[in-house]
Amino acid sequence: MAKKQFAIIGLGRFGSSIAKFLSEMGYEVLAVDEDAERVQDVAHIVTHAVSADSTDEEAMRALGIRNFDVVVVAIGQDIQSSILTTLILKDMGVSNIIVKAQSELHGKVLNKIGADKVIFPERDMGLRVAHHLISPNILEHIELSTDHSIVDMKLPTALYGKNLKQLDIRAKYNCNVLAIKRGEDMDIAPRPDEPLRENDVLVIVGRNEHLNKLEQAYAQP
Ligand code: ATP
Repeated sequence: MAKKQFAIIGLGRFGSSIAKFLSEMGYEVLAVDEDAERVQDVAHIVTHAVSADSTDEEAMRALGIRNFDVVVVAIGQDIQSSILTTLILKDMGVSNIIVKAQSELHGKVLNKIGADKVIFPERDMGLRVAHHLISPNILEHIELSTDHSIVDMKLPTALYGKNLKQLDIRAKYNCNVLAIKRGEDMDIAPRPDEPLRENDVLVIVGRNEHLNKLEQAYAQP
């Protein structure tokens, strides 16, 4: 199967880091920005780097943007450009458009005009940091929907040697332990009587309000 091809529009910190990473992973990347200097900064890393205004439909057509598997719109400050660009890409029939939103309202508009995925990097990173500040055991927090998340929780010291049956997370917090990460291994069918060990990481799914209670209960390292 041919490797996916990506186009990244807007080469601020967010867009350029996506472009660089994908290129380093061996993917074909078209990087676009109206600012020639920003284009220059990534030109030596990505497959093609082009200076163009993404609100110019003709320019986008000329770049063959429609043929890319995924187009990421990483324009933050200029909300009008972000929305116009998304509309143009949608009109051209781009199959997978991922757009960075600056605010909830911006995100709503993007969803309405047909963005396939809207991301809120600052909000999500802020939430992650906040979760980690409340409970240093929370290593990762992934939103599944507006109401549900998955967290990676480092096993608190008080629970070393206990098993999942004794923790009784399902009954106490309405959350489910999906897996236990142990070093490089991942036990995706953890046994209820298996003693938990130092450095184990529990992968837990639940409603956000239930996970918050659990995080607070296990806030001690
Ligand atoms: P960061 O990712 O650094 O947080 P940001 O969210 O502040 O960035 P901006 O700096 O506003 O986003 O925009 C990112 C890039 O998008 C800038 O380099 C800017 O030149 C580019 N950009 C903005 N409008 C357009 C446009 N119409 N066409 C092409 N590039 C554009």
